Amino acid sequence: MKPYSNDYLTNLNPATGRETSQIPNSNSDDVEMAVNAARNALPKWRELDIKIRIEWLRKIASALESKKEYIANIESMDTGKPINLARRVDATRSITNFEFFADYASELPELKFEMQDATNYVVRKPVGVVGLITPWNLPLYLLTWKIAPALVMGNTIVAKPSELTPLTANALAEILKEINFPKGVFNLVHGLGIDAGQAIIEHPMIKAISFTGGTATGKIVARTAATMFKKLSLELGGKNSTVIFHDADLKVAASGAAKAAFTNSGQVCLCGSRILIDSRIYEKFVTLFIKEVSSLKVGDPSLEDTEIGSVISHQHLEKVMSYVELAKQDGGVIIHGGEIMNMQSDKLTSGAFINPTVIENLPIDSKCATEEIFGPVVTLHRFDNEKQALAMTNNTEYGLAGSVWTTDVKRGREFAEQIESGVLWVNTWLYRDLRTPFGGVKNSGIGREGGMWSLNFFSELSNICVKDE
Ligand code: NAD
Repeated sequence: MKPYSNDYLTNLNPATGRETSQIPNSNSDDVEMAVNAARNALPKWRELDIKIRIEWLRKIASALESKKEYIANIESMDTGKPINLARRVDATRSITNFEFFADYASELPELKFEMQDATNYVVRKPVGVVGLITPWNLPLYLLTWKIAPALVMGNTIVAKPSELTPLTANALAEILKEINFPKGVFNLVHGLGIDAGQAIIEHPMIKAISFTGGTATGKIVARTAATMFKKLSLELGGKNSTVIFHDADLKVAASGAAKAAFTNSGQVCLCGSRILIDSRIYEKFVTLFIKEVSSLKVGDPSLEDTEIGSVISHQHLEKVMSYVELAKQDGGVIIHGGEIMNMQSDKLTSGAFINPTVIENLPIDSKCATEEIFGPVVTLHRFDNEKQALAMTNNTEYGLAGSVWTTDVKRGREFAEQIESGVLWVNTWLYRDLRTPFGGVKNSGIGREGGMWSLNFFSELSNICVKDE
């Protein structure tokens, strides 16, 4: 749809540097129109029997399923991530998000608390019009993770994907049109964060904001939304540790740590971008780790065997490389990568590719070891005992995720319990049961998503206490 400003943003494929689309540079007038549509659609959508909304979720899932390959392709084009990853993770999970919340909501237990002479009935009501704002690293995956629970609870939506990755959200809007999804229930606004995004946060008729993005943006969102008493969910940045104990199965740990560091070019909020290694097995582990990293195939995202694609943009490449320079100044030793990759094929010469980078010797409190780089860069650190490992793990402003690798599972669990983070793994990484709570502590966010937590966020609970006759 034509934006009020009549202004458009050019969208690029970061692996080729070629233009993929022009997207509306929307402003507060466009947001106003979207909010009006969402408000008009709310009464009917809210009044529907939840079973019908669940059916809609299933219809969306199967419509997405029928276009899965297309979704994977445009997600790969928009982000520069390998097609394989886009298919296996982004497209698959986007479909699963609808299926999961359809199943989950259909099994919601009645909430009732009996007293000796009264019964409390807990009633769920939708919040109203909700604003959903998402980042570029897992575009449709993260957007549908919010859309599905919001819809099933009876809310109507104004959503803004990242201006860097608008294609799959757009495709979803098209798919909804094709399946005759009720008009006005889902409204998509493209544009910049400072314009369209800010207008969503500020709009008084938007009653809840579910935001995923960087911590700096999260602060701005929180400042605005809090004074308006909006419901607020913030899923923000991370600087996550991968902790390797001396008794770990080192081959398994090296492979897991490489996956945790470099999946999606290190552009996953959960990536383990600092690896803490017991001094006793440091050299042995590092040899195995470097072997894993060297075997990663960096290249054309459209090829089936590519494991690492480009980063999201040249601007982001500059940011990541500035951290590599900083690491050198701070005494870091680069033992793998550390440079921009000039790809041989004509198609990729303007792409934003960085060799997976491994840095040793940096102090644990250096910038590279504590700030979120969000690229294919990992730092390695030694520890001498568990107490030291824990202090090192917790010495960042973030608290999103982490993984612990040991053959002593009890010890791994006990250690994980002491890490100041919301999402922890022992001997695995990025293994998810969608019923479990997901989210961060400290500067990694407020609130939890997943299962009941998502449904609670997207509903208001009223308690009705009925006294026995
Ligand atoms: P970002 O904060 O720059 O942008 C996120 C979204 O917010 C985009 O849609 C952007 O347009 C919008 N935005 C920007 N300024 C805004 C404003 N003033 N008001 C409203 N909206 C605004 O983040 P990014 O660079 O797109 O994504 C990377 C970040 O996201 C990383 O820090 C990463 O860790 C984080 N992230 C967190 C999670 C999580 O679950 N915790 C998941 C994925 C990514």
